[in-house]
Amino acid sequence: MKPQSLTLLGSTGSIGVNTLDVVRRHPERYRVVALCAHTRIDELFAQCVEFRPLRAVIGDALLATQLAQRLRQAGLATEVSHGVEALERVASAPETDTVMAAIVGAAGLRPTLAAARAGKKILLANKEALVMAGALFMRVARENGACLLPVDSEHNAIFQSLPPNFSDDLARQGVRRILLTASGGCFRTTPLAEMTEVTPEQACAHPNWVMGPKISVDSATLMNKGLEVIEARWLFNLAPEQIQVVVHPQSVIHSMVEYVDGSILAQLGNPDMRTPIAHCLAYPERIESGVEALNLFKIGRLDFEAPDFERFPCLGFAYDALKAGGTAPAILNAANEVAVEAFLARRLPFLAIPRAIAATREAVALNCGESLPAILQADAEARAFASAWVGRQ
Ligand code: NAD
Ligand code: MG
Repeated sequence: MKPQSLTLLGSTGSIGVNTLDVVRRHPERYRVVALCAHTRIDELFAQCVEFRPLRAVIGDALLATQLAQRLRQAGLATEVSHGVEALERVASAPETDTVMAAIVGAAGLRPTLAAARAGKKILLANKEALVMAGALFMRVARENGACLLPVDSEHNAIFQSLPPNFSDDLARQGVRRILLTASGGCFRTTPLAEMTEVTPEQACAHPNWVMGPKISVDSATLMNKGLEVIEARWLFNLAPEQIQVVVHPQSVIHSMVEYVDGSILAQLGNPDMRTPIAHCLAYPERIESGVEALNLFKIGRLDFEAPDFERFPCLGFAYDALKAGGTAPAILNAANEVAVEAFLARRLPFLAIPRAIAATREAVALNCGESLPAILQADAEARAFASAWVGRQ
């Protein structure tokens, strides 16, 4: 069997590191051809030494020079480049079969789109790309024969619970709706009054998952679930009414599909991203991921609650953006990225994150266009407005 060649966009992040952990267990199946990171040169260097890729991409020219020098000294022929065009090149290069799209935020859009245009197998973790440009991204993937596999645990669970070879018309296949589970985040039971003083450390301490800082804050505000509602709309061609969020604090059921005959199919497992990553890497086969078997006796019970749209307005904002269409989700995403970054840098209180998004949504004009220039312009305008708004706080 010829090994599958892999490009990892965002190899030093939480998803990137978990992907390499699975890949390391199956050296005969996978060959890493490109690794990409933003600033963490030491981690990227160590990954290059271990996996010996043809190419490595890093954020800027200075880091690229340093990395190239260190790799040469270590006797490696890995070619080093930097910048977004270099990311697009490695994502679409002929030597790559599969692209793990695991850059965080809007920065992942252009390289992930390049992979879609080149008809690659895309393991999609970078949900923001789909939130910003869902219609465009799905069209480009379809026209170029790209195969899209969802890494996000909820969407991966839905993918596993849908009929095999499901179509764009799920209603015809007996699907009534999907039940998107949410842990509820670390402030699920915290009264609103106590949320004013929340620190980045508290917000990043997710009860069940270990993740990068941005998605951890998104989980605490429930914006992550909102982004996932939009992601599900595009991946599975669903109407907003067909996507029901269910708070399930144990994070054991990763999501469910409800059929017209009353059946609900679910995927369960320990909350460890190596399961959906391994599922996508090996699809349609199954491989060892290193994840421990689920011990149902230890878990004992599974609980469910309705989401609280009052304390967590970001979830409602995402449904609104989905209904508004056009560039609304891109504006929502950009405002959120700016607000979360400011919160992590202690420049904005936790409860001001939804306020920043609401203000941006009011101020930035909606455009019904879904071309890349229209989306990038909406993203830039929303970022500029949200940054200025944060500066005034
Ligand atoms: P992270 O912050 O741990 O890692 C982000 C990666 O992206 C790093 O390798 C970083 O070098 C790279 N990066 C950041 N900015 C970049 C830029 N401007 N240009 C190029 N590379 C850049 O994030 P993560 O938690 O691994 O999440 C990655 C993506 O996967 C996000 O879109 C997130 O929503 C999604 N996701 C993550 C998890 C999880 O468990 N961590 C689960 C589901 C979905
Ligand atoms: Mg998720």
